[in-house]
Amino acid sequence: MRIGIPAETRPGETRVAATPETVKKLATKHQVVVQSGAGLQAAVTDEAYAAAGATLVGADEALQCDMVLKVRAPNESERSRMRPGTVVVGMLNPFDNENIAAMAGARLTAFALEAAPRITRAQSMDVLSSQANIAGYKAVMLAANTYQRFMPMLMTAAGTVKAARVLIMGVGVAGLQAIATAKRLGAVIEASDVRPPVKEQVESLGAKFIDVPFLTDEEREIAQGVGGYARPMPADWIRRQGELVHERAKLADIIITTALIPGRAAPVLIKEETVAAMKPGSVIVDMAIEQGGNCPLTELGKTVIKHGVHIIGEPNLAALVAADASALYARNVLDFLKLVFDKEDKFHIDLEDEIVRATLLCHQGEALRK
Ligand code: NAD
Repeated sequence: MRIGIPAETRPGETRVAATPETVKKLATKHQVVVQSGAGLQAAVTDEAYAAAGATLVGADEALQCDMVLKVRAPNESERSRMRPGTVVVGMLNPFDNENIAAMAGARLTAFALEAAPRITRAQSMDVLSSQANIAGYKAVMLAANTYQRFMPMLMTAAGTVKAARVLIMGVGVAGLQAIATAKRLGAVIEASDVRPPVKEQVESLGAKFIDVPFLTDEEREIAQGVGGYARPMPADWIRRQGELVHERAKLADIIITTALIPGRAAPVLIKEETVAAMKPGSVIVDMAIEQGGNCPLTELGKTVIKHGVHIIGEPNLAALVAADASALYARNVLDFLKLVFDKEDKFHIDLEDEIVRATLLCHQGEALRK
């Protein structure tokens, strides 16, 4: 197969879907073409791709392949340059029906890696985890950079400096990495999540879990989530959580919010009145901003100061660590490809495979997820 790796075109997207490491493996069985400059923002040179066995080409040639490996969903211009029947693999927005319809209309066969089920076999191709892990780390770095005080406690001849208090809202993959990173910097950490198993994970990292007790069986049942993901909690639980969080936020120096519910707007967890009650100079990093944000005061792509609090609405934090984000993403992609090539290295779609079935968005002009 001829496999193309174009440069990403979405503003701010610095990652690339294949690295010399993965190209080298693909090139043993396929013809690999890489758009010249595709890896530059991720610290990969054209020479490194060429040495790994790729041919450097222009954008059109990288798109006109049997299979195209992408980070982001192709835009209209990219779709129009791909041939009908092209297989596209990437983070293709499985909840965006318009985008799926457009790809189906272009007769692309599209696999969205974010849609892979959270099962053990899919771990090595779990792009949500590999990228959220990096984003959680970077969120703490951004917060530390904006925060005008020390993170660790410091005892000096000039007096003692208190450790920063960090509050993490939503403890999935990003939240766990944010806890671990803030811990390494010496902060004192508290965290909140709806899902009960998270408590043990939070405590094992040396942070304190903010317990919002379940008052009904319904609350307890919904909090279990589905397939590892959270579901929207009943309003009364959210209100009680909000009250507790309001009190903890008043003491916090840094809040990192990561709470997401697949296919829905992010839940509002830090209201304006809570921001107004925070200490001046505090920092909020709202990692949920691309899904509307966990704080209504966050502005996409900006850092704003509201009520004396710095609120960072930087989207796509993984793209700010482009080299490692690309390295892990490219390995996820390579692992996924094992499911769609048979023993003779021929492309095939095995709908009996639950990962293939879950990730396939469209095929032969038909949108398969509605
Ligand atoms: P996510 O990005 O979808 O959401 C982030 C966190 O926000 C989640 O922990 C969620 O429970 C939490 N959240 C949602 N609403 C909230 C609210 N109102 N208040 C507080 N928190 C709220 O989550 P994720 O990082 O994709 O991880 C989801 C789960 O999947 C985790 O348990 C993770 O360990 C698990 N996982 C399993 C596998 C596997 O088994 N293969 C792989 C990766 C992740």
